[in-house]
Amino acid sequence: MSDNKRYTGLIDRYRNRLPVTDATRLISLGEGNTPLVKLENIPAELGKAVDLYIKYEGLNPTGSFKDRGMTMAVTQAVAEGSKAIICASTGNTSAAAAAYAARAGITAFVLIPEGKIALGKLAQAMIHGAVVIQIRGNFDAGMALVKEVADHAPVTIVNSINPYRLQGQKTAAFEIVDELGKAPDFHCLPVGNAGNITAHWIGYSEYAGQSTAACAFCEGSCKFEHAAVTAGRPTMVGYQAAGSAPFMRGEMVDNPETIATAIRIGHPQSWDRAWSVQKESGGWFDECTDEEILAAQKLLTSREGIFCEPASATSVAGALRDIRSGKIPEGSSVVCTLTGHGLKDPDTAISQCDDELLTVDAELSAVKDAILSNM
Ligand SMILES: *Cc1c(COP(=O)(O)O)cnc(C)c1O
Repeated sequence: MSDNKRYTGLIDRYRNRLPVTDATRLISLGEGNTPLVKLENIPAELGKAVDLYIKYEGLNPTGSFKDRGMTMAVTQAVAEGSKAIICASTGNTSAAAAAYAARAGITAFVLIPEGKIALGKLAQAMIHGAVVIQIRGNFDAGMALVKEVADHAPVTIVNSINPYRLQGQKTAAFEIVDELGKAPDFHCLPVGNAGNITAHWIGYSEYAGQSTAACAFCEGSCKFEHAAVTAGRPTMVGYQAAGSAPFMRGEMVDNPETIATAIRIGHPQSWDRAWSVQKESGGWFDECTDEEILAAQKLLTSREGIFCEPASATSVAGALRDIRSGKIPEGSSVVCTLTGHGLKDPDTAISQCDDELLTVDAELSAVKDAILSNM
């Protein structure tokens, strides 16, 4: 059991709402408990009276929200006696799978699209000792392969089709309500497979004591504590990258393209669930261009000091547009999930900075000149 001072991860914190017992060996790296930061400069410049927060999921142990689902999925896999896990990934799932498998002492197999994963994520999968299999195909092809392989080999799938993943990820909604004292009016997320928007809705619903068709796990008769701690649920808003926006097209997209590689997904695995979320919450989907996504990433770094990866900035790009237009009205409280850390994708970040680096001689006068000419 935990001592009561040290934070020991989200399963321990929310154990009465998760599928574990006191005897379960928890595979945890201290994930969750991420900062809910209130933006100051961006809303002021926008001239709109909204309470705009970001949930900084990039501060999880491997730098993305995937850790929330992975701690639960790997804990369950180990409890079932599994010796190996497998996933298809645009990068962050592979990083999380690799780290939690290392912690558990089991093997991680990860399928990634060749040449289309951000450098930091590849480094993580490799250094944690996952078996990295690059495929000449995109995420959707990798996902189809993983489902087939798992039917024929003793490996546990840890993609978000594993219902334990969403159980772990629902805790982000708990944390937000616990901190704000109520659910926000709007919750905005980037959408790829749509597992995370579904997981948030499951969490908000549970905390409101309400059931949802989006929860595969309990299907209305959940054995976990569903006691309400708050009355309301937010309106859920999902933003996709324009080049890979099946929820906007109303059908699967076969050749998704976007600079936001984490959401370069044309065949979302939580398709039906996410539509349930949209309907039940009265929310909507929209799309952002790569230019809008990169502009939002830059705005967050330069005005607020917050560095997220491009996919994450999609939530803010979309939210700012909807706040500007009034679709998200003044007086609202809005939470945007920043799904992953900016350090995941240093190449894209550097290519966004048009300023040349200043290079001078290692002399006082040269450094002084450089400072004075840039004041
Ligand atoms: C996985 C991921 C997403 C998409 O989440 P889904 O659950 O697939 O919709 C968004 N941003 C980042 C950084 C991710 O790693």
